[in-house]
Amino acid sequence: MKYISTRGQVEPKGFIDTVLMGLADDGGLMIPEQIPVISPEELREWSTLSYVDLFLQIFARYVNDEIPAADLRELAERSYGNFRHPEVTPVKKISDSLYIMELFHGPTFAFKDVALQFMGELYSYMSRKNGDIIHILGATSGDTGAAAIQGVRGKEGIKICILHPHGKVSKVQELQMTTVDDSNVLNLSVKGNFDDCQKMIKDLFADLTFKKKYHLRAINSINFVRILAQTVYYFYAYFRAQDESGERKVNISVPSGNFGNIFSGFLARQMGLPINKLIIATNENNILERFVRTGEYQPGEFRSTHSPSMDIQVASNFERYLYYFLKEDAAKVSDYMNKLQTEGKIVLSQEDLEHVQRDFAAYGASNQDCLQSIIKYKNEYDYLLDPHTACGIAAYEQCSGPEEVCITLATAHPAKFDESIVLCEIEQEFPAPIQALFSMPQHQTIIDHDLNEVVRQLEAFYTR
Ligand SMILES: *Cc1c(COP(=O)(O)O)cnc(C)c1O
Repeated sequence: MKYISTRGQVEPKGFIDTVLMGLADDGGLMIPEQIPVISPEELREWSTLSYVDLFLQIFARYVNDEIPAADLRELAERSYGNFRHPEVTPVKKISDSLYIMELFHGPTFAFKDVALQFMGELYSYMSRKNGDIIHILGATSGDTGAAAIQGVRGKEGIKICILHPHGKVSKVQELQMTTVDDSNVLNLSVKGNFDDCQKMIKDLFADLTFKKKYHLRAINSINFVRILAQTVYYFYAYFRAQDESGERKVNISVPSGNFGNIFSGFLARQMGLPINKLIIATNENNILERFVRTGEYQPGEFRSTHSPSMDIQVASNFERYLYYFLKEDAAKVSDYMNKLQTEGKIVLSQEDLEHVQRDFAAYGASNQDCLQSIIKYKNEYDYLLDPHTACGIAAYEQCSGPEEVCITLATAHPAKFDESIVLCEIEQEFPAPIQALFSMPQHQTIIDHDLNEVVRQLEAFYTR
């Protein structure tokens, strides 16, 4: 299996080189040259596998022989051994037509752990194998940074620096990042917003001399290995619901921001998993909902919501979908992305819109929808939703049919976003690992929104 860019200007690469590259050198995103298709017989065999065994079956189709099977098993077992639930991503039945798959049993209580625990192990493995120095650099609005730091803290050969907007992440997110005291971790708390942090990271990665000199590596969801690690739980979820759904069709509702998680679902479906509707759940930042409803993809005005990890205007993984939607025509993808750059939007024909609507359903939950869902599910089912999952539930209620079952992905534990739970006048008890954070010392460097200052901090960090 080789990997190519959505914009067609990168020589085909192997799996490891694809992971190391992150963003494709031509500005596109890396994707498999050909998506492997799993036959119905194989799917039946896979349906009883444990999480790790399923992971290994799926990855076997993608890593070639670049990682020996025994090594891959060890990496997977170590990654998912850190989860607090033996099933890794358990599925709970809420009602006859609704299941919730809990993706928050990893170290930082959000779904980012599923991919980033593995990515941490993988980077560490590559560093040991090839003697590579790996310097991870990223910006976060909260969950990615915490999960990435937990994925690599204390690991030999790796240093990680994460920028977060000072005072603009949830208290628990801030504590999860800054109470880590391993010497290979640097938290820069930037007086600015997430976009300021993201922009500085982009500028540093665009400086190829700097990037090469310090072996900079990315951890955001443009990295294909994150997408692939997430496809595993779509299979796992489908198999659990299938057991009980009888002949009913199975939908999956996904709280979405950067289109990374839902693209993993799309990939699972392309591999042959018969998911019926893939439901894109957004909040008031509803570029994706508008796209599915009207065929116009146009960034709108940024809104702050109760589900901050979905407060995104430009969904970076959208380009991967565009590639398949445009029948794998890289030249057309470049055209569309140029159009987005120059005209500020992409507009589809009626025929193309119907195609999109066969691929996805979508619903954008208002702030009020979100809080009302939290209250309703607490009252009716005694299940406490986090505000991101609540958007997924609102979308399930709008988009899933009466004769269908739906699995909604729970992307975070409610304790991470107590600020919103309090607004619903609900009191929750924090899990012990979260409660413990409040009495731990914090380690972070607060800096101005200034690229030169970031460079100074990084150079000191890399040479110490
Ligand atoms: C990151 C995140 C999302 C959005 O996922 P994407 O892959 O960016 O679409 C949703 N919910 C939570 C809790 C997150 O941390």
